[in-house]
Amino acid sequence: MIRTPTDTGWIEVIAGCMFSGKTEELIRRVRRAQYGRQSVVVFKPRIDDRYSDDSVGSHSGGRLRSVQIDHTREILEKAGTAQVVGIDEAQFLGDELVEICETLANAGKRVIVAGLDLDYLGKPFGPMPALLCHAEYIQKALAVCVICGNPADRSQRLVSNDDTVLVGESDSYEARCRLHWDPNAAEGKQQRLPFGPNLAELL
Ligand code: ADP
Ligand code: MG
Repeated sequence: MIRTPTDTGWIEVIAGCMFSGKTEELIRRVRRAQYGRQSVVVFKPRIDDRYSDDSVGSHSGGRLRSVQIDHTREILEKAGTAQVVGIDEAQFLGDELVEICETLANAGKRVIVAGLDLDYLGKPFGPMPALLCHAEYIQKALAVCVICGNPADRSQRLVSNDDTVLVGESDSYEARCRLHWDPNAAEGKQQRLPFGPNLAELL
């Protein structure tokens, strides 16, 4: 039996690639807290302006009111008396996010953080790896590989651009499994293979 902590805060992290449903899951958890009449505030960095300014949005259409922030420290300043603090697109925030989440959790708040664990080159992204170490609860969200249908944990960039941050829609990225993800293939759509490499060749 998993006991839900009482009289204490904690950190939950939802990590995964693009289209894996991180924001969907964040919205689901926050909505349930609201049904439970808990006070909630959700933050997102301003860099993510794909959807309307005052909401976090899922590719599946879900939306939640949120506060856009320009600096990670604003989370502490603006969390106020909220019992639940949600943070989306955490990979774009600074390393101080770890300390801030710890402070909030130590103050008795439930902190729910969603973010990309890997960038398009397959490197751990921003404060996410450290956050995963500090969290009580971790969920790895998986998408569906658009090439083969297997579980996908990587984001394939489809356009040539060396910037780590390229906020984009489905025309810039695809979800891929490890066999069909290629960090060197920016024009990924032309690199499609019918199947992954023969496993025997890799061993
Ligand atoms: P994330 O925040 O992880 O980018 P979202 O919550 O915004 O994910 O979007 C998840 C939704 O994206 C899914 O429910 C589905 O509707 C849609 N989607 C589009 N492409 C894929 C894919 N390749 N695998 C899974 N879901 C996908
Ligand atoms: Mg998202």
